[in-house]
Amino acid sequence: MYLGIDIGTSVIKAALFDTDGRQKAEASERMSLLEAPLGWSELDGEATWHTTIRVIRQLLEEAALDPARIKAIGVTGVMVGAWPLDENDKLLRPPILWNDARAQDLVDELLAENPDLISSVFAHSGSVMQLGCTLPVIAWLARHEPHVLAQARHILTAKDFIRYRLTGAIATDESEAAMAPGSAVTRDFHPDQAKHLGIGEYVHLLSPVARGETLAGAVTDDAAEATGLKPGTPVAIGTGDTSACVLGAGAHKPGQAVSVLGTTCLNGVLFDRAMYEPRDLGLLFIVPGRRWMKSMVNVAGTTVLDWCLEALCPDIASAAAPYERLGALAETSSPGANGVSFVPYLSASGVIAPRIEPKARASFNGLAPHHTRADMVRSIYEGLAYAIRDCFEAVGGVKSSIRLVGGGARSPFWSQMIADVTGAPVEVPEGTQFGAKGAALCAAVAVGDFASLDEACDKTFELKHSYVPSPGTRDAYDAGFARFKAGSEAALGGLRAVAD
Ligand code: ADP
Repeated sequence: MYLGIDIGTSVIKAALFDTDGRQKAEASERMSLLEAPLGWSELDGEATWHTTIRVIRQLLEEAALDPARIKAIGVTGVMVGAWPLDENDKLLRPPILWNDARAQDLVDELLAENPDLISSVFAHSGSVMQLGCTLPVIAWLARHEPHVLAQARHILTAKDFIRYRLTGAIATDESEAAMAPGSAVTRDFHPDQAKHLGIGEYVHLLSPVARGETLAGAVTDDAAEATGLKPGTPVAIGTGDTSACVLGAGAHKPGQAVSVLGTTCLNGVLFDRAMYEPRDLGLLFIVPGRRWMKSMVNVAGTTVLDWCLEALCPDIASAAAPYERLGALAETSSPGANGVSFVPYLSASGVIAPRIEPKARASFNGLAPHHTRADMVRSIYEGLAYAIRDCFEAVGGVKSSIRLVGGGARSPFWSQMIADVTGAPVEVPEGTQFGAKGAALCAAVAVGDFASLDEACDKTFELKHSYVPSPGTRDAYDAGFARFKAGSEAALGGLRAVAD
């Protein structure tokens, strides 16, 4: 068995996989973010460790597993942010997470001095720098909490902290280093990036970088006592949650497309080289096993369904199986939603794909008196499917199947629609914990049970459902996509003048 641990923003998960990669057991526990000023996002770091301990114990108990049967452990979790640790291994303040925006003013100031900042950073990392990335957060700490940095010995990230508590080894992986931001080519930190952010004197706090599919160390006696794991169990470096999810979905071949349709909707294509096009847009994730994934994110993913249930269908929201009923209602309309289209930019902070526009908002278009609630609901499902097509077109289009994971993949109706709208077969893998599986595969390779991640992905991938594009809907969806693009352009450009 392999154990994968996934530190999410609000849920800590662990799962066991057999040597064929089949998920055998899972456990999870919710965690609340700390109360913090608007725009900040902080966790209780010690509580995160104690919750992880409970989740591991629960998993071992429910699986009735002798911990000696665990051959190796992999860790993954939310990326970047900052977990500052002092010389006595104590966290110096609550960890700051990936979705924290406290560095906004500071980055605005840097931009005023250097309008090319974001492009200069992108030129190495291949990603548009997010405010919650490790380096801008360190820059904020340098200005507002210099005492924290003065006492700090290490700045870790979520999974690196948990791995440290398990093994005592300080390390990070290539995905975190490149997103810090660092360099996508060297898959490491890059000295120019710290200079861009004026924090050159703090780079010694960053951890040594190792490949995700190599060993970091072994479970210590203390960690074994706390978790119930066997002392000496090997622990791999692991990787950030997006990359782990990609591997967990069995995706490793260049050209493979992946959509993670969860709360947000990430769409990426794998490359065997650092892919910088399109410039100054999207996120370039380093995937262990010498792959890169160029990604575009529609900030609203399944959020659109939850909003639809609450705002338009409270009767369905309060019934049993609300998502199934919502899908069934949408199905009573027809492909193209009888001319209604929905632009799914349902976010208070606008969109980051296909262009960056903080003022863009969601909209319904084309409504006439004969339209029904079913048409509107269907247009919401279609809007996300069109946004997925749009995101993929921005990174060169889909030339393979799309591996679909996340809560939205539970809907056969939506999965089929995504195949029909994109014209690409959609493959939903078996399993539920893809991040934990990707981490577990890193561990399996690290102990030599597979020769490479390519082999691990191929040998452990199991298809649950596949959806083939149906030619009969092509014209209706192409016309719908054209309406979507017109609405999208209005949201990205025309409406801006109104908002201004
Ligand atoms: P997260 O991004 O928070 O990890 P998940 O990938 O676990 O989220 O997806 C959870 C979301 O998936 C739910 O909030 C819900 O909106 C959506 N969801 C759950 N079941 C279905 C379903 N059968 N059809 C469509 N969407 C669903």
